[in-house]
Amino acid sequence: MPANSAPTTATVALPVPRDGIVGAAPYGAPQLPVEHALNVNENPYGPSPELAEHIGRAAAEAARGLNRYPDREALALRGELGEYLAAESGIPAPAPEAVWAANGSNEVMHQLLLAYGGPGRTALGFTPHYSMYPEYARDTYTGWVTVERGPAPEFALTPQAVREAIAVHQPSIVVLTSPNNPTGTALTLDVVEAAAAALAPARGLLVVDEAYGEFRRDGVASALTVLEDHPNLVVTRTMSKAFALAGARLGYFVADPAIVDAVRVVRLPYHLSAVTQAVARAALAHREELLGKVALLRTERDALAEHLIARGHSVAPSDANFLLMRTFADRDDVFEALLRRGVLVRAVGPAGWLRVSVGTPENNAAFRTALEEADPR
Ligand SMILES: *Cc1c(COP(=O)(O)O)cnc(C)c1O
Repeated sequence: MPANSAPTTATVALPVPRDGIVGAAPYGAPQLPVEHALNVNENPYGPSPELAEHIGRAAAEAARGLNRYPDREALALRGELGEYLAAESGIPAPAPEAVWAANGSNEVMHQLLLAYGGPGRTALGFTPHYSMYPEYARDTYTGWVTVERGPAPEFALTPQAVREAIAVHQPSIVVLTSPNNPTGTALTLDVVEAAAAALAPARGLLVVDEAYGEFRRDGVASALTVLEDHPNLVVTRTMSKAFALAGARLGYFVADPAIVDAVRVVRLPYHLSAVTQAVARAALAHREELLGKVALLRTERDALAEHLIARGHSVAPSDANFLLMRTFADRDDVFEALLRRGVLVRAVGPAGWLRVSVGTPENNAAFRTALEEADPR
């Protein structure tokens, strides 16, 4: 400011965010204090006191070295994640260099779009889809286009539909979600392989988001089993859902090491804290306990689906830890009526449908009871 300019009392206008950010709302599934939180597909079973203590010890040990930056490459954790996946999906253990880890699969997806999307490039998804995909695209200046999945209640995708969508939109990236959120639908491998093959000539990337992979029903294969045949395939997983570790923020993917290398270029330096790495490794060492309730949740899911169908609801067949159901009354009224009875669900998916996470037997019983009054048949 020149020395002779008058001091101003005028209000200084605030800077304006760029296009796409002005007026946009941040991601916001409500975080309400309710008795039965069945809205964000968390695992309702927390760690045992012993495991919580072990995780605490691992964090304390990491704390002693917090004056130093963490291991940038997190290769020990990445190797252990690969070993876990080998056991889970019956694939040979991927090398640590073929695994990538970040703060939730949200960050993993964001990094993939940073590296493979961008101005002039397009990513393709299939509706109804996870609410965050368009936001990763917006934030990375990537175009976002969608094609509808098949009719309710199956919300299926076929190899033909995927091939056609790729031919029309010529995307750089295709995101397939299996099991899908919010529908719960798992994809058969022919759909995954058709997408990978259709993208290959233009060297497009196929991301299969398997956030709910561990909940899939018997006989449903993971896309991990065809990874070796498709160098353009990325399979993402998370410790947030089946692993009961949403609060720790650890997501990961497996792919050709060249894809990992591209992501390493765009990741922020030291993105994965030493505490996060230590906590994730401690949790992985106790995977039997953490994953111990997956079988129970699958059984509860199938029982709840049967109950809802017997009540006359349309229910999407689910390979995940939630159900998408059609309500009789207006879904927003049902949502509010459930909330008044202490049950928080999610109003997502097509109009007229609600998504409910599978909780403990007690949560699920409370949901059933509340639904009798909230949505009488
Ligand atoms: C919950 C969810 C995720 C991610 O969760 P993180 O907690 O970030 O790992 C990713 N994809 C889908 C489809 C989800 O539902």
